[in-house]
Amino acid sequence: MAHLQRLWAPWRNCFIAHPQPRRCIFCAAKRSRADRAHYVVARGRHVFTLLNLYPYNNGHVMIAPYRHVGTLTTLAPAEWSEMLQMSQRIMTRLTRLLHAQGFNVGMNLGRVAGAGIPGHLHLHVVPRWQGDTNVMPIIAHTKVISQSLDELYTMLATSRRRR
Ligand SMILES: [Zn+2]
Repeated sequence: MAHLQRLWAPWRNCFIAHPQPRRCIFCAAKRSRADRAHYVVARGRHVFTLLNLYPYNNGHVMIAPYRHVGTLTTLAPAEWSEMLQMSQRIMTRLTRLLHAQGFNVGMNLGRVAGAGIPGHLHLHVVPRWQGDTNVMPIIAHTKVISQSLDELYTMLATSRRRR
C-alpha cells in the first residue's frame, strides 16, 4: 500500500512543509511530553499508542515499545504482553467511536518486509469498513482519508479521559 498516493485535504500543506524526518519518530514521541503534537493517544508502562501520520485508512494507529528495538525476539515478555493488551483496548475504542467493522493488525519487521522505521518495531492497527477498498485507489492510486488527524486525536483523547 506504500505506493499509494493519498489525498490530504486539510493537512496537505503541513505535509509538504514538513517532510518526514530521518530521526526515529517513536523515540521522539516517547521523550516528548507534548502528546498532542506527536498524536500519542495512550501511554502504558512499556508501550504507547500514536496515530499514523500517513494512514492506510482512517483511524490507523501504531503501538510501539518505549525501547528502540527492531525485532520481536528482543522484545521483553512484558512489552509484548502490554502491546497486545493495548491493541485490544484501542480496537474497542475504534469500534465504539468510528464503528469499525474489522481490523488489519500486523507488523512489518525489517526494511525488506516494508518497515518504514526498521529500528523501532511497531504494531499497526488499521480499522476496516465494508466497501472501504473502493475503486478509487485502483484507478487513481489515490486514497481519501475522510477524517483529519486532529479530529481523530481529539476523539480518542476525549474517550480516554471518559473511560
Ligand atoms: Zn526509536
